[in-house]
Amino acid sequence: MMSEIKPLILVCNDDGFFSPGIKALAKVASEFGEVVIVAPDRQQSAVGHAITMSVPLRANELTIAKKYKGFAVNGTPADCVKLAHGNLLERKPDLILSGINHGSNAGINILYSGTVSAATEGTILGYSSIAVSCTAYPEEADLTGAQEAARRVIKFVLDRGGLPKGVTLNVNAPAGEFKGIEWSRMADSRYVEEYEGRVDPFNRSYYWLTGEFELLDDGSDSDIHILNEGKATVTPIQYDLTDYSLLKDFGSNNL
Ligand code: MN
Repeated sequence: MMSEIKPLILVCNDDGFFSPGIKALAKVASEFGEVVIVAPDRQQSAVGHAITMSVPLRANELTIAKKYKGFAVNGTPADCVKLAHGNLLERKPDLILSGINHGSNAGINILYSGTVSAATEGTILGYSSIAVSCTAYPEEADLTGAQEAARRVIKFVLDRGGLPKGVTLNVNAPAGEFKGIEWSRMADSRYVEEYEGRVDPFNRSYYWLTGEFELLDDGSDSDIHILNEGKATVTPIQYDLTDYSLLKDFGSNNL
């Protein structure tokens, strides 16, 4: 028998409560259930899994696009999910979504991403969680394909009754129309960083991060490879960072 209570879907992001991407994801989420948005009150990209410990958190209740109930929080994406879980939601969410991020969270970006960390925090707290990103940075980018990718992955997760413990799904999509979605793995990649040095008006040095993304992976099953072919990707990721095969190998050595 179908439950009469609609699924509750928590939507978070790292670009902030007012980004177009979060509205685009809330719209898709509303096809599946009741939506509550809990998101940072400002841009929090690349904060990773940071949490706030030194200042109090405040949650400002707001309505977005005149229809979605939500809270803007003066904290990080992970803070938002923890606070929603512990204090802000009237019942436990059936699903946690994070995004749609403006910018790729494929390859090594996963580790720096606040968007992915909001979803990972959801997984840590025991909820089925999905991160969704569009590889194009501009806020006016066409998110149609990312929305369709999200729709398909949400349906997959709800139809199977949730995700296994410890697993988060990381979805990426190119800008523009939907051209298919493939399962993928995280591409081996890194940033080759450079800090441009300048001098401020008070004659003090400062440094600003620049840098280039470097793909170290030529496999055709990686997220970046598939995205470069124009399709969306979904990668199952896990927060347990233990290298089990190496533990078995190293573990036989006495230290
Ligand atoms: Mn972002």
